[in-house]
Amino acid sequence: MDKKKIVILGSTGSIGRQALEVVESRPELFQVETLTGWNNVGLLIDQARKFRPRTVVIADEDRYREVTDQLKDLPIRVLAGEEALSEVAAAEGVDLVLAAIVGFAGLTSVLAALNQGNTVALANKETLVVAGDLVMEAARQKNIPLIPVDSEHSAIFQCLQGEPGGVEKIVLTASGGPFFGRKTNFLVNVKRDHALQHPNWSMGEKITIDSATLMNKGLEMIEARWLFDLRPDQIEVVIHPQSVIHSVVQFVDGSLKAQMGLPDMKVPIQYALTYPHRIANTFPRFSFKDYAKLTFDRPDLKTFRNLVLAMNALEKGGTSPCVLNAANEEAVHAFLRNKIGFLDMTEIIEEVMDGIPFLEKPTLAHYQESDRAARALAQKIIIQKSN
Ligand code: NAD
Ligand code: MG
Repeated sequence: MDKKKIVILGSTGSIGRQALEVVESRPELFQVETLTGWNNVGLLIDQARKFRPRTVVIADEDRYREVTDQLKDLPIRVLAGEEALSEVAAAEGVDLVLAAIVGFAGLTSVLAALNQGNTVALANKETLVVAGDLVMEAARQKNIPLIPVDSEHSAIFQCLQGEPGGVEKIVLTASGGPFFGRKTNFLVNVKRDHALQHPNWSMGEKITIDSATLMNKGLEMIEARWLFDLRPDQIEVVIHPQSVIHSVVQFVDGSLKAQMGLPDMKVPIQYALTYPHRIANTFPRFSFKDYAKLTFDRPDLKTFRNLVLAMNALEKGGTSPCVLNAANEEAVHAFLRNKIGFLDMTEIIEEVMDGIPFLEKPTLAHYQESDRAARALAQKIIIQKSN
């Protein structure tokens, strides 16, 4: 079998690093064509020396010199800047693009890959939250699958193999995050370091905060709406603190199919990299003996209002999810810099969603403009709050 030629957008991140672990575990299956990072030059260089890609992209142009200097003894092409991300995503002869950049910044490269007909394994959920209609349409035009990496969506994707129809609804499981069971009077004093301690998963900072506020689950509802072409009322969320059932599909005959396993992102990453095949690995195995109980609960919508805001955006459609996402990215960023409190994030998103004009059928330019306007308004509110 020929090696699969892969481009990893965001190789220095949590998903990118775990993808390279998967590649390293089965080097005979993969050829890394391209690695990209934002500004973590040290790690990007180490990865390039180890995996010997054809091309490396440093998205932060100011670091270009450093990267070229440190790689000058190797036959590796070095590119810099945002446009280079789209260029490598749309390169010819690529078998798979793993989209593992965080946030809106990942949108253009995903669209570039799909428009060129390159198959995408999608970790970057914000891409679908912002412009799910455009992303899905691009994949449809080229008749290529969009392979989910997010554990819940990979679970659903796996449950749907060999099931050409008949989905009644899906159930997305949520760990509940570090503040499961807590109330507003507790959350008001929560600081960044506490919010960054996720009970089950080790992830990038942005998604870890989103998991603590439950915004992550809201973004995932929107992600699922596009990936699986569902109505909002077909998407349910259940709290499952053990994170063993990764998600569930309920079919029209009342049957439920779930995908289970230890919470380990390498499993859905590997499935996305090898789809439609499953390959053996030696990752730790789940044992029923270690889990006397699997428990389930309703999400607390009174306390975790970010989830409600995301549900509203899902229901409303148009530019709403794009505005939600932009405000959330800015709010999380400010919270991570200790500029605002935990509950301020909700207030900021709500205010921004009320303040930005709504468009029902946006183009890419409209999404970009909504994103820009929402960020500007969010930043204004953040400055007021942090004074
Ligand atoms: P991360 O912060 O650890 O890594 C993000 C990567 O994107 C890094 O390589 C960084 O250099 C790059 N990057 C950041 N900003 C950029 C920009 N403006 N331009 C170009 N590159 C940029 O994030 P992560 O946890 O790996 O998450 C990546 C994506 O995968 C997110 O959308 C997240 O929601 C999703 N996801 C992550 C996990 C997880 O376990 N980490 C699980 C499910 C989904
Ligand atoms: Mg997830």
